[in-house]
Amino acid sequence: MTPVVTLDRVTKTYGEVVALDEVTLAFPRGRFVAMMGPSGSGKSTLLHCAAALDPPTSGSVMIGDVDVSRLSETRRTELRRKHVGFVFQSYNLMPTVTVEENITLPLRLAGVRPDRAWLGELVDRVGLRGRLRHKPTELSGGQQQRAAIVRALAARPDVVFADEPTGALDLRSAAQVLELLRELVDELGQTVVMVTHDPAAAACAHDTLVLADGKVVDVLNAPSPEDLAVRLARLSRESVA
Ligand code: ADP
Ligand code: MG
Repeated sequence: MTPVVTLDRVTKTYGEVVALDEVTLAFPRGRFVAMMGPSGSGKSTLLHCAAALDPPTSGSVMIGDVDVSRLSETRRTELRRKHVGFVFQSYNLMPTVTVEENITLPLRLAGVRPDRAWLGELVDRVGLRGRLRHKPTELSGGQQQRAAIVRALAARPDVVFADEPTGALDLRSAAQVLELLRELVDELGQTVVMVTHDPAAAACAHDTLVLADGKVVDVLNAPSPEDLAVRLARLSRESVA
């Protein structure tokens, strides 16, 4: 089966800074992949390139069988709206409109009629049925992040990228969000790629990629949180040294 996203020798530079250095990898369908690495190792840049939010400086990014790196910005946006969901650490909900309007906003922007049955199923799954008419600020952080996850899934994307989705949450809400992401993978076959700082969070994923200096340095299958913590501590010391 074609991977959901394939990166081939992807390099991203910002002036002198090489944020990604010839990264080649594929995200297979239906997997939950965690991404870890020291601060500045290129995790967010990799996510943004893989999600077609940012074009690479060189190399190619394929979403399904479409080469994103060759598309105009307009086409890239269209492709993203259809095929990619994104979850941010800070939720990024619009404060002035209700939770329901937030969830359907990307669909309306794409000119797509919301699939009410699907949205209803998602809303029930994340326990926000009674909160749809509230404004985001009236919700807890965990509830806001779950609303953001529903928004990311509304268009039935092929892949959901999440950049430190539990970074702003207390332990209990973080655990709920991780459990939800894992459930989406196990029960709906959703592909999820998540950046995290927390080895325990990575343990919820199938595989963990470890980045350092813009390169993937490890691909680990279900590593233990203890092994990951040791590996990351060593990389962080090396990147400071
Ligand atoms: P991570 O998410 O692993 O902390 P990033 O992908 O955000 O790392 O950043 C990787 C490198 O690229 C860092 O050195 C960072 O300073 C640099 N970088 C990221 N985005 C930009 C940008 N928009 N302009 C300039 N440098 C950037
Ligand atoms: Mg980052």
